Amino acid sequence: MRLVIIGGPGAGKGTQAAMLSREFGIKSITTGDMFRSIQKRGCEEGMEIGRILSEGKLVPDDITIKAVGNELGLAKYGPGFILDGFPRTVPQADGLDAILASIGRGLDLVIDIEVDDEDMVRRLTGRMVCPECGLIFNRHNEGYPGDGACGACGVGLEARDDDNEETIRRRLKTYHTSTVPLKEYYSDRGLLHTYVSEGIIERTYANIIGALKARGII
Ligand code: AMP
Repeated sequence: MRLVIIGGPGAGKGTQAAMLSREFGIKSITTGDMFRSIQKRGCEEGMEIGRILSEGKLVPDDITIKAVGNELGLAKYGPGFILDGFPRTVPQADGLDAILASIGRGLDLVIDIEVDDEDMVRRLTGRMVCPECGLIFNRHNEGYPGDGACGACGVGLEARDDDNEETIRRRLKTYHTSTVPLKEYYSDRGLLHTYVSEGIIERTYANIIGALKARGII
């Protein structure tokens, strides 16, 4: 299974990638996590990436394509992969094509999770992440832990630095300018499956499973 998941910030790409990864035993690559872990190293490159992330901009294509290319070359992606948050620009999609061609592979499907802009803003301004296990909660949802601690490991939940309204709106703008053109790119190649999500995780997942079955991917 070789999948790409595209969608705006807060569309739920990571959640769906994690669910698919668990069910089918396929590793996912989350470029946002990859960059956040480089940022944490505190090296020169990490500081530069931290600046880009906090401004809601995209990491340059050459750096991103190289990082994903190196990762995809690892043996653990032999059985397949789920790309969560990559590609995000047309040059990145071309870069991915070149990487896959060099290893004699192609993509099976590109899942596009479409969410209304204001819903994305609402979701992201409420998003809280467990720094220990990565579980995601939302302050706007019923059942949000009153003590602000992760239900799984008890650690205090934190908001991401780039989940403030100003940066969220910049990320949304970047999404519309740079990532939305990928829909046509992949639609022209017969690879695009779009799902308009109202934010119900199980419904989105069921739709994706339906698309994978319809195409004989599972
Ligand atoms: P995410 O966790 O997917 O919201 O990504 C967080 C940030 O990481 C984005 O706002 C970008 O700054 C950066 N990033 C993630 N994926 C990419 C990508 N494919 N290309 C460039 N920058 C990216």
